[in-house]
Amino acid sequence: MSRRIQPLGSLVANQIAAGEVVERPASLVKELVENSLDAGARRIVVTTELGGLKRLRVVDDGDGIHPDDLPLAVAPHATSKIRTADDLLGVGTLGFRGEALASIAAVARLRITSRSAETGTAHAIEVAGGEQTALEPAAHPRGTTVEVADLFFNTPARRKFLKTERTEQNHVDLVVRRAALGRFDVAFELAQDGRDGVVLPAGRVEERLGRILSADFVARSVALDESRGDMRLHGWVGLPTLSRSQTDQQYFFVNGRVVRDKLVAHAVRQAYHDVMFHGRQPVFVLYLSLPPDRVDVNVHPTKHEVRFRDARAVHDFVFGTLNRVLRGVRPASPSADALAGAAAAGGAAGGWGVGPAPQRRLDWGTAAGAGGSSVTALLAEASASIPAPAGASAPTAAVAEDGFPPLGYALAQLHGVYILAQNRDGLVVVDMHAAHERITYERLKAQRGGQSVPRQRLLVPQVVSVSETEAELAETLTDELAEFGLVVDRSGPGSITVREVPALLANADVGGLARDVLADCAEHGGSRRLAERQETLLATMACHGSVRAHRALSIAEMNALLRDMERTDNAGQCNHGRPTFVVQTMADLDAVFLRGQ
Ligand code: ADP
Ligand code: MG
Repeated sequence: MSRRIQPLGSLVANQIAAGEVVERPASLVKELVENSLDAGARRIVVTTELGGLKRLRVVDDGDGIHPDDLPLAVAPHATSKIRTADDLLGVGTLGFRGEALASIAAVARLRITSRSAETGTAHAIEVAGGEQTALEPAAHPRGTTVEVADLFFNTPARRKFLKTERTEQNHVDLVVRRAALGRFDVAFELAQDGRDGVVLPAGRVEERLGRILSADFVARSVALDESRGDMRLHGWVGLPTLSRSQTDQQYFFVNGRVVRDKLVAHAVRQAYHDVMFHGRQPVFVLYLSLPPDRVDVNVHPTKHEVRFRDARAVHDFVFGTLNRVLRGVRPASPSADALAGAAAAGGAAGGWGVGPAPQRRLDWGTAAGAGGSSVTALLAEASASIPAPAGASAPTAAVAEDGFPPLGYALAQLHGVYILAQNRDGLVVVDMHAAHERITYERLKAQRGGQSVPRQRLLVPQVVSVSETEAELAETLTDELAEFGLVVDRSGPGSITVREVPALLANADVGGLARDVLADCAEHGGSRRLAERQETLLATMACHGSVRAHRALSIAEMNALLRDMERTDNAGQCNHGRPTFVVQTMADLDAVFLRGQ
């Protein structure tokens, strides 16, 4: 016998709908904070008890709700933010679906107290399990307080999925962090169970960044602000050396709304690809704005996803901007913050920084004026240990007014591994192999750009023994390898003869170079993949061309390396994203020796 169809009661219908927006206390906080922001609040206070499971409250000083509208505010599909379907094309507010409060009212005890600008007295409404229990005058300054108690008291199936108080509180924290990064002009407070909470005053950008991400991020990030057509991307990107193992400090806003978008994530990952150690995650806070009709936010009830009308253009713009900014990062009068940065990236997960953020900002210059801090680029240094490639633009090395170039002048070599130099600020310590590797890599890459790498003929061709597979590979890849500067032919079942090498690597160990390149090719498959893996291949080659540790360098050679670093893209980190140099300022040293105390 077939079961007959019946319409659902409105409470059940709302409880089902609630499942989409009200998953846990944090999702309520998100909806309520968005309502406060939509109401023009300047200050928002979030309070939780038991991680929001028992009770949570959001207080704002926004426009408030007219008393006649209070019952409507908690009714499903009632909103003051849009009127027609056409309005959906250009949503300018965070909310618009008109279902958050109704959903909350269906699964918890809800009390709203509000006073609007145009009414003298405040009113309160209470709803529990969808039933309105009171509408009465109340005391409240202009603005709105929404209190939610006993979440899921009438939907046990949902309650089962809630985690511990700690976990729920962490999720609430995260929601407040995101909201606070979205609106520096609004003050936020987060209090738990009457304990002293987090207070984020309006307007103090660096302090807020320091507390939400880390002081390290403030010191080791680059500000950017770029526009293309009607799109604008601004914010801060962490230097590649400030990487994390998790994606937990990545904030991307589209028209003021936090999103987790695959397209955007891909563009950012690509931009960092070449400068970050494999498996590490960048840190960033970025804001993309574009006309509201070019992006659809009505993809999912939680509004975490968006759909771009011109996805390709957005991807290219984000990638292009970040790529340029990251490539422009090179040493320019660095300070001790770089030293602090040699340690793992700070910002304990889940914790709020202690703020205020340090006053000093690492003065990273950026090429082509792509945002960032100031750089005094006065004159180019002529000396270079390796001739710059023809056709590649060699950026100008910076020299400060007092005559010290950013990385200073070499004093000595330490155990054949580090170069010690002095600059205006103090002591500079350079990992000479890592630095040279980066420089060689960038040069090779510039040379490779579209054409073949310049080669140098070996006076005596060198026979190198390799595996049979590798020898075969060398035979099939002859032309491709030549484009990378390696001219080889097979001279036996398990041997090849190397006749020419990249000019930049003329002094490299030929056998090691050829073997590693072939091993790389073998791992990445046939010739078609070679072009795709170009960067890996060049990095392998660069590694061989770089000064080995324990090679003695003269002072002149060391100075030449320092100048090369100053004019090379990405010179702040080696190809693996590790720092290539650190600075210990005079102040740092004075502190160590307790001078002047
Ligand atoms: P939406 O935000 O999608 O419109 P909600 O259910 O979240 O739907 O809220 C319903 C309506 O209640 C809103 O359109 C707004 O008019 C009003 N409202 C909710 N919260 C506030 C607040 N904090 N201040 C002023 N008005 C509010
Ligand atoms: Mg809303």
